[in-house]
Amino acid sequence: MLTRQWAILRGKENKLVKDLKETTLSFKKLGKKYGVTRQGVHIFCKRQGIKRPEKPKRHQTEQCPLCQKLLQISKRPHSEFISTHTIVKEIGGPWGKYPRHLRTLRSKGLVSPKFGRLHSKRIEKAYAIYFTKRLPICKIGREVGLKNFPSIIRQYRALGWNIPPSLYGRRGRNRVKSKIQEGKKR
Ligand SMILES: [Zn+2]
Repeated sequence: MLTRQWAILRGKENKLVKDLKETTLSFKKLGKKYGVTRQGVHIFCKRQGIKRPEKPKRHQTEQCPLCQKLLQISKRPHSEFISTHTIVKEIGGPWGKYPRHLRTLRSKGLVSPKFGRLHSKRIEKAYAIYFTKRLPICKIGREVGLKNFPSIIRQYRALGWNIPPSLYGRRGRNRVKSKIQEGKKR
């Protein structure tokens, strides 16, 4: 088997040596490129005594100060509703450097898929009141200048944001429950 592979490689050895030394292409990909098997490339590489360059590592969240700070903030209650303005204010700007780190954290499941997606200071303020004070939703909206806060809540629920029932709605629990279901159906 191998002799046949060496025959295929004849005349291309130098090129393959160069690829092995200078690229991080896998043995499998190189095998495809040169018409031999993955094992063929592996043995060739070993026999030539080639030390392959290291692949650039994936972003290491454990060693990244920005990711660590984001993780800390994400552990607070209702952290999904902390706006990007607040995050930048606490950690430092510009916002442009954040998305890459947030994507990594989300893809690793270390933060909620919604964390770092709220861009409105006003909505953040409204939710902060909603989570802590026993006030009618409309009143909260008026307080922060969001006339449509009730419909904003419905929209967020429909998009999968985790919004507990209103503290004010305790008395009329059934009404709140049916609203949640309404949100889920959409
Ligand atoms: Zn990072």
